[in-house]
Amino acid sequence: MLKLAFKMAEQLIAPHLCPACDAEVADRGLCSNCWIDLKLISSQACGQCGLPFDIPMIDVLNGHVCGQCLMDPPDFDHAVSALVYADPTRRMILALKHGDRQDIAPVLARIMAPKTIPLIEAADFILPLPLHRSRFFKRRFNQSAELTRQILALHGGGRMMDTRILIRKKATPPQGKKSKAQRISAMRGAFQVPTDQRHRVKGKHILIIDDVLTTGASLSSAARCLKLADAREISVSTVARVC
Ligand SMILES: [Zn+2]
Ligand SMILES: [Zn+2]
Repeated sequence: MLKLAFKMAEQLIAPHLCPACDAEVADRGLCSNCWIDLKLISSQACGQCGLPFDIPMIDVLNGHVCGQCLMDPPDFDHAVSALVYADPTRRMILALKHGDRQDIAPVLARIMAPKTIPLIEAADFILPLPLHRSRFFKRRFNQSAELTRQILALHGGGRMMDTRILIRKKATPPQGKKSKAQRISAMRGAFQVPTDQRHRVKGKHILIIDDVLTTGASLSSAARCLKLADAREISVSTVARVC
């Protein structure tokens, strides 16, 4: 009874809000309307970049890889995304990134979990896509690190993220409306495996967690950097991807 009274009092003081539309909800999480509007990506997707396939036969024909990956593959080996980057997902990610709504990270981490857990189990190291120091000071947190922390708290079995093996040495301006070629060029040399970490990376499977895969240029650049340090395999998991 006392617990229930406390819960009711807490709700009266600060009602829970849907992270996507600010409607009042009974518990932490999305409202039913926003749940219905989420565009989930099924397992019918490119094994390398996570692009959803419309035609089920295509993965039989070309071995689970989309045409883009056949022509110009990214430097990571596998990518999974839980959702298509469209509203209400877009609103939640923007609120997490720029709206000081860190309470959204656990909601997104729960949605990412089913596709991410097998990668966590297979990986030797799990890390967020690093943010440059200047961006970190401006924003005060790395949204990818928040997602990584939350997903490991829920499903990591005591494992911790490792932020030492990859650092961001170049501050890149927001990639907003840039083309894929411009993004690739902007990301060149953006990451570094510190010299004293290279022996740890060698031969290892590394999982990078990020919020959105747009063209994949940042994640591919991070993967290339780790591969140059002799990492064996790079997997990527993002909340959402642009399709
Ligand atoms: Zn909502
Ligand atoms: Zn692909």
